[in-house]
Amino acid sequence: MSNLKHVAVVGATGAVGAEMLRCLEQRHFPVGQLTLLASARSAGKTLKFKGEDVVIKELTPDSFAGVDIALFSAGGGISRDFAPHAVKAGAVVVDNSSYFRMDPTVPLVVPEINAEDVKGHQGIIANPNCTTAISLMALHPLHQAFGVKRIFASSYQAVSGTGAQAIEELANQSREWAAENRAWDAAKLDSKPHVYPHQIAFNAIPHVDSFLENGYTKEEMKMENEGRKIMHHPDFRASVTCVRIPVFRSHSISISAEFEKPVDLAVAREVLSKAPGLDVLDDPANKVYPLALDIAGRDNCAVGRLRLDCALGNGLSFWVVGDQLLKGAALNAVQIAECL
Ligand code: NAP
Repeated sequence: MSNLKHVAVVGATGAVGAEMLRCLEQRHFPVGQLTLLASARSAGKTLKFKGEDVVIKELTPDSFAGVDIALFSAGGGISRDFAPHAVKAGAVVVDNSSYFRMDPTVPLVVPEINAEDVKGHQGIIANPNCTTAISLMALHPLHQAFGVKRIFASSYQAVSGTGAQAIEELANQSREWAAENRAWDAAKLDSKPHVYPHQIAFNAIPHVDSFLENGYTKEEMKMENEGRKIMHHPDFRASVTCVRIPVFRSHSISISAEFEKPVDLAVAREVLSKAPGLDVLDDPANKVYPLALDIAGRDNCAVGRLRLDCALGNGLSFWVVGDQLLKGAALNAVQIAECL
C-alpha cells in the first residue's frame, strides 16, 4: 500500500500557506496529490510545488473528497465553516486558526512538547498561537527542570504574523517615508493605515488582537490558556503584553519566569542546549543573542540573554526568537502531519 498522502492546503496563497508548501517540499513530506484551495479571487491561478504548476481551486464544502490531510490557514471563520466538511470527507485537519484551540476534544500540539496528544484527535488537531509556541520552545524544557509557576512577558511581533496585507502595509509606509525624503522627526505619514489601527512603520503598537474585559488582549491571554493546555499545567500563570513592531518576520519575546525550584544558570543553559528545535545564542560580551533578522527563515527557535532574574525569587529572564511563519505556523503544522 502506498504511503503517499493526498494533502490539501486551505489558504495556499497566504503568508502561512506559502510557507506550508515550502515545508512540505523541503521536509520531503510524502505528498501523492496536492490540492490548493483559496478564495474565488485566487481560483485558476497557479503556485509552484516541486517545480510543477499546481492550479488553485476555490474552497467549497466539496473540496475534500479523497483528501487525507487538510492543512487549514485561512482564518477562524473558514476553519469553523469548512473543517467539519473536511473531517466528514475522511481527512484529518491541522488547523492554524485559533477557532478550535481551546476545544477540549481537539489536541493543541507543539510536537517537541506534547506530540503524544496527537493520538487523541477526533479529526481536528490545532496549531498553537505563534507567540505561545515560540515561547514554549524555551519555557517548557525549563519547566521540566525547575517547574514554572508564572511568567511576565512582552512580545515584539512581526507584521507577517498578520498576513500578506500587513507585509504590504509596512513596505508601503516605509517606501512612502523614503520617497518623500522625510526627516527622522517627520516620520508620521499622511496616508491612513488599513490593516493596523495606527501607522506601523517606525512605531510600536501595544495592541495585538482585540481587547478583553480584563484589559488584556485575546493574543495576550493565549499564552496562559494555550500554555496550560500544551504543557498539561493547569496552574500556569502568564501576564503578557503583546506589541506589534515594524519587523517583517520573526517574533521576539522577553520572558521573566518564576519557578518552584531554585534556578542554576549553568543547568538552565545545559537544559536549553539539549532542547529539540532550539538553539542557544548567548554570548552578550561578543554581541551574540538571537535577532529577528537572523532567525527569519530558520526552522529552529533561539534563546539568549539568559540571566537570573533580579526581581523574582527562583527567577530566570531570557529572550526567545522564532520565525512565526515557520515554528509558529507552517512548520509546526507540517510536523503535526508528520506525527500522524
Ligand atoms: P493571509 O496572508 O491573509 O492569507 C489568508 C489566506 O486565506 C489566503 O490564502 C486567502 O486566499 C485565504 N482566504 C481568505 N478568504 C477565503 C475564503 N473565503 N475562502 C477560501 N480562502 C480564503 O493570512 P496568514 O497570515 O497566512 O494567516 C492565515 C491563518 O493562519 C489565520 O488563521 C492566522 O491566524 C493563522 N496564523 C498565522 C500566522 C502568521 O504568522 N501569519 C501564525 C499562526 C497562525 P485569497 O488569496 O484567495 O484571498
